[in-house]
Amino acid sequence: MTAKKKPAPKKVAKKEEAGVVDIKIPRSNKTPQTVRGFRDILPVDQVYWDYIRKVAPEIANAYSYDYIDLPILEEASLFVRSVGEETEVVNKEMFVFMDKGGDVVSLRPEATASIARAYINHGMLNLPQPVKLWYMGPMFRYERPQSGRYRQFYQFGCEVLGEKSPVLDAQLMIMAYSFCKDLGIDVVLQVNSLGTPADRKEYVKKLTSYLKSQMKYLDEQAQETFARNPLRLLDSKDEKVQAVLEDAPQILDHLSDESRKHLMSVLEYLDELSIPYELNSKLVRGLDYYTQTVFEIWGANDDRKGQLALGGGGRYDNLIKELGGRETPAAGFALGLERIVLKLKEKEQPLPPLFKPQVLVAQLGDAPRRKAMALFEELRKEGINVIEAFSKSNLKQQLDIANKRGVRYTLILGAAELHDGVVLARDMEGGMQETIPFKKVAKEIKKRFTEEYLLAHPKKK
Ligand code: AMP
Repeated sequence: MTAKKKPAPKKVAKKEEAGVVDIKIPRSNKTPQTVRGFRDILPVDQVYWDYIRKVAPEIANAYSYDYIDLPILEEASLFVRSVGEETEVVNKEMFVFMDKGGDVVSLRPEATASIARAYINHGMLNLPQPVKLWYMGPMFRYERPQSGRYRQFYQFGCEVLGEKSPVLDAQLMIMAYSFCKDLGIDVVLQVNSLGTPADRKEYVKKLTSYLKSQMKYLDEQAQETFARNPLRLLDSKDEKVQAVLEDAPQILDHLSDESRKHLMSVLEYLDELSIPYELNSKLVRGLDYYTQTVFEIWGANDDRKGQLALGGGGRYDNLIKELGGRETPAAGFALGLERIVLKLKEKEQPLPPLFKPQVLVAQLGDAPRRKAMALFEELRKEGINVIEAFSKSNLKQQLDIANKRGVRYTLILGAAELHDGVVLARDMEGGMQETIPFKKVAKEIKKRFTEEYLLAHPKKK
């Protein structure tokens, strides 16, 4: 007789052990709304996002970064160990909850920690180094919503792991800069070095002793920040704090030779490429994992006081080791896409849509519609930018749509055309009409969009 298998322990037991209480979902008759800080990105705004989705892979591919999809939900401890327990992001802003299995999970507030986890989990240290990865997707932080600050926001980010060369720090900055530049946004980089952990420790000692002598000028909130992390006072927006900091020791004066050499080398690359940057010794970034180079991307003409950075990044040479991997130098950046969209909206010239329809297939009646649908598919497969309005039966309505969408030709198919095996091609610039046999439509339309033809038949307006 075979031994009976023990029944698998019930999941419920774990849930009960963890003290999970089932949440009663309140019933409501009100029209549902989005959750505060979350929003729909409507079709009218998608033209901006289309450009972002076009330019991001162009930049990433040019520098040989491979795309990676990362989960939106991670173990909450991943962020505590990487971003840092005493950081605002972890301390105040994480969407943390216990799932039904009793695991404490968090919506990701950023993606660098997940990249480091993925690098370890998938043994990427065995791949040729450096490993270059890019991502784009939503992040979640429980912040006070305001313009340019949401609880769900999108980031485009690039991370390079496995090499320490300063050329990679510079390259990341050049990529972030070029992404903005390609979208027509003027930016200036803010660059600093936080040195090695040993450098930073020494500097924090000096800064602490200076700040202690100035305590009477700091209010309660500043003193609290000081107690948590004195470095965080450096990028305080409070004018009184900034006044106190005027005579404070600067980290750039306290770097070891190794750190100074690394920074100088990064700056030389930026100089060579005429990338606009400012050395900003008050830039510390809000996340604990950074070592050596840190940087942010600021709008070139933005008011420095209410400054909302478009993005930021830096080196994190110790993160992978701290998460249990081998010692692996790494660096990366993330750009906030809502803030990029705000910049695109500020531009005087509106962005033209990326999809420019060339032809509309119009039809009159049931049998012509069936043929028109087949013709539409044929033209689409031929790579012609064709649109339709098959739910309309009135020709005027279809021509109005053609005009509104700015197509050059409307191909009209009525009962007579169907009978003769032709379409009526109407040039929307001036209204000239000619018949084209079904079989020749794709070829004839393509011909009409060649450069020579368009030059010989210019638009009227
Ligand atoms: P961080 O790593 O926190 O500096 O975030 C990088 C970039 O993400 C920032 O420069 C912003 O552009 C963007 N970002 C961060 N938090 C938010 C938010 N709550 N809403 C919109 N964008 C954000």
